[in-house]
Amino acid sequence: MYHDAVGQFDRVASLMGLDKNVADRLRVPQRSTVVSFPFRHDTYNEVETIFGYRVQHLNTMGPTKGGIRFAPDVDLGEVTALAMLMTWKCAIVGVPFGGAKGGVRIDPMQLSRAELQRVTRRYTMEIINVIGPETDIPAPDLGTNEQVMAWLMDTYSQHVGHAVPAVVTGKPPALGGSVARREATGRGLIFLIPQAANATGIDGSSLRIAIHGFGNVGMFAAVAAEQAGHKVIAVSDISGGIYNPDGIDVSSASKWIQEHRFLEGYPEADHIPGNDIFGLECDVLIPAAVQGVLNADTAKDVKAKIVIEGANNPTTIEGDEILRERGIFIVPDILANAGGVTVSYFEWVQDVQKYFWTENEVVARLREIMTRAFDDVYSVAISENVDMRTAALIKGIRRVADAKLVRGVFP
Ligand code: NAD
Repeated sequence: MYHDAVGQFDRVASLMGLDKNVADRLRVPQRSTVVSFPFRHDTYNEVETIFGYRVQHLNTMGPTKGGIRFAPDVDLGEVTALAMLMTWKCAIVGVPFGGAKGGVRIDPMQLSRAELQRVTRRYTMEIINVIGPETDIPAPDLGTNEQVMAWLMDTYSQHVGHAVPAVVTGKPPALGGSVARREATGRGLIFLIPQAANATGIDGSSLRIAIHGFGNVGMFAAVAAEQAGHKVIAVSDISGGIYNPDGIDVSSASKWIQEHRFLEGYPEADHIPGNDIFGLECDVLIPAAVQGVLNADTAKDVKAKIVIEGANNPTTIEGDEILRERGIFIVPDILANAGGVTVSYFEWVQDVQKYFWTENEVVARLREIMTRAFDDVYSVAISENVDMRTAALIKGIRRVADAKLVRGVFP
């Protein structure tokens, strides 16, 4: 993943004629922290050694910002790639952060609540010297949630001796989390459908949508899609997919997940293998689970006219080529899923100012930023005659490079 991210950066940097000194500086992260720590299972005498990572790609324009993922296969390369992508993402939507990402190499599905809490608190202690409200602000990602962010905030606050809500975003509103943060990433994806449909030349008012992944991003994308008058015909999670050509009842499927954790056994739709989602007859496909799922095998089967990338890096380089050759319009991850970091920025601003906004204010400002970012990227795509992914990278890299050049070199 890191080689892909750097390869993509090199390609776009050369296309833009980017200053070589700046390009060399941006290819590597500013700081990478790798930790290992002991973790005691509930069965008291079993102690496992766990690896954790926190990579900060760029702190030129402000603190770094990015999620923490808990996954059994996460590694330094993946986290470094995602930190770099976060930098471009923040620059595209114009929030004053650089990119960061964290990871803990563990399967959260196998942990009890007490185990999850112990891992979170110990990992937080391991990285405590490199995070902070003015330095680096974590958020949820794959396998982590509001509760994990609450434990992180509590651990940091215990350490410094007073409550520091701004050290983390995506925490529960009771602790200074923003209203509408939970829904932000999924909602942001759906906000972009009218513009993507317009660019593709189709009527964007009532479309058939298939969503791979039914966690934070996928589920709230489904809710927002239904509210916007679209039909969610299929969703999937790690246990498989559910399909109903007449539309899935999203609130009933969400309730099922809250009670049963997985879609397996859900009674009100047909069950299909999870990967069948990619080849379904639909208008919009939203990958919202893990990386690399739209690849040389799956991209050729995609029937959607629009792909909106909810997950980070869901499309491989080969998959991207195939989709583009087939004329499928892709809204790339660094633009499409930027709703999460945008409302995280709102949350940080509210925490720092200790003044909280209403849901209507948050949602209206999110919509404004997302739709403006789409227009900005789309106009680069037209003026430079490039695809949306390249255009988004040009937009993000240009903003960061300008900031780097005016700050100069110390000393
Ligand atoms: P999550 O853990 O809440 O949900 C992940 C979903 O994907 C679950 O339904 C899970 O069952 C499914 N899944 C996991 N592994 C899978 C596999 N191997 N095959 C098929 N399905 C699988 O995570 P999330 O927060 O919704 O994040 C999903 C993606 O979106 C990630 O790539 C993440 O980096 C990206 N993202 C998240 C946010 C955010 O605000 N949460 C913001 C931007 C990007």
